[in-house]
Amino acid sequence: MTDATRLIQYVCVSADHTGSGNGEPTITIHEGLWAFCTHTADAADHEWSRVDGLPLHELLRFPPRAPQAAS
Ligand SMILES: [Zn+2]
Repeated sequence: MTDATRLIQYVCVSADHTGSGNGEPTITIHEGLWAFCTHTADAADHEWSRVDGLPLHELLRFPPRAPQAAS
C-alpha cells in the first residue's frame, strides 16, 4: 500500500535503525508529515531528522545512514 511518489519529510537516523534494516521498512506519520525508517514500526527510539522532501523510491534504494558513521 505504498505510494512511490510520496515525499518523505522525516527520516530515522538512529544508529541502530540505519543500514539494511530488520524487516519491512516503516512509512509513518511524524508530526503530521511522512516519515521513513529502514526498521519496522515497532522498533524503539526512532530519531527523526527533517529532510527536504525525499521521494520514497529513493529512500528504498539508498537507505539513510547515521551521520556518525562517516567519521
Ligand atoms: Zn527508526
